[in-house]
Amino acid sequence: METVNRLLDSIKDVGRDAVRGGYSRAVYTTPELDLRQWFIEQAQQRGLDVEADRNGITWAWWGKPRDGALVTGSHLDSVPGGGAFDGPLGVASALAAVDLLKSRGVEPRRSLAVTVFPEEEGSRFGVACLGSRLLTGAIDVDKARNLRDADGNTFADVAQANGLDPRHVGPDTAALARIGDFVELHVEQGRGLGDQGPAIAVGSSILGHGRWKLSVGGQGNHAGTTLMADRADPMVAAAQIVVAVRDTAAKQPDARATVGRLTPVPGGTNVIASRVDLWLDARHPDDAVTAQLIEAIYGAAREIAAGEGCTVSLTEESYSNTVHFDPALSRRIGELLPGAPVLATGAGHDAGVLAGHVPSAMLFVRNPSGISHSPEEYVADEDASAGAVALADVLEGLL
Ligand SMILES: [Zn+2]
Repeated sequence: METVNRLLDSIKDVGRDAVRGGYSRAVYTTPELDLRQWFIEQAQQRGLDVEADRNGITWAWWGKPRDGALVTGSHLDSVPGGGAFDGPLGVASALAAVDLLKSRGVEPRRSLAVTVFPEEEGSRFGVACLGSRLLTGAIDVDKARNLRDADGNTFADVAQANGLDPRHVGPDTAALARIGDFVELHVEQGRGLGDQGPAIAVGSSILGHGRWKLSVGGQGNHAGTTLMADRADPMVAAAQIVVAVRDTAAKQPDARATVGRLTPVPGGTNVIASRVDLWLDARHPDDAVTAQLIEAIYGAAREIAAGEGCTVSLTEESYSNTVHFDPALSRRIGELLPGAPVLATGAGHDAGVLAGHVPSAMLFVRNPSGISHSPEEYVADEDASAGAVALADVLEGLL
């Protein structure tokens, strides 16, 4: 068994979700903390020096921490009921690549670090890539501190309970200066790589994407005593808004819009809700079109809400412009991986957040299921091994 497969095998029981299937490894929960500990031990076994920065990003250094280092890594947290590869594949491949470089006798000309970014999925605090956004200043620090999880805990409190000083989270120019080039290997999240041919692709761009919260307000009341004609039921409005989201996006070529989460308040079977919160994820390659799409959805939502005697408000929770990876770095990587196709992705990544500040690039490993954020996500052992070798080839060429 190759190292990357062995590493993934060693964490296959961490954070299994018996209800949803797959894995639930939300940031700063026991499974995610267990995975961090696993990473630290694996890094130390390889003689790497491990440190955590003030935003909770873990760095494992081969060589002294220095500015302009070559940095690779990904994340260990997951969406609820996620697959085994989204995140951990990049981390395990980075560790395996270090082994390969050592076995090849590579003498790095600059330092190399393997990093693990926290809360990449945003599945606990609602903002994806929270660690890299804090590092780069892409999120307002006060906003970040006040983000709440589903139980009402603030990010500040959870961070503090996990050894961070919430007063010191935020932009870290010294840590950012350490990154000379960033390369993230990741499972491909669509069917961009065919069953035949190369298993590894070089990333070109990340589709612009964002998250919005729609809050539909109505009149909370008794399900038995309130006549149908007397209701202002935000659940009925929310149901129509979900359909309007689908229909609005379907009219716009290349747009994607999803309501994947909806919370009625108070949420009782015999209670007409007083409020329903819906979370909207929308994406399009052209940021101006995304803005128009959100405007159109909000317009439809206002009309629907008014028709039900309800109100609706829209709040942007996060937005990332379409990102094009560093052309020079991607070209160099293309030379190091001859024959590798070039792929754009519709999924967000820490590499996309970092790309606005340091040269960044991505490698994608074939996922024949074409499914991600689900237990059916899949990478064959031989493709994972090929990914680790490709990453080692890239790192060797860039070191
Ligand atoms: Zn990921």
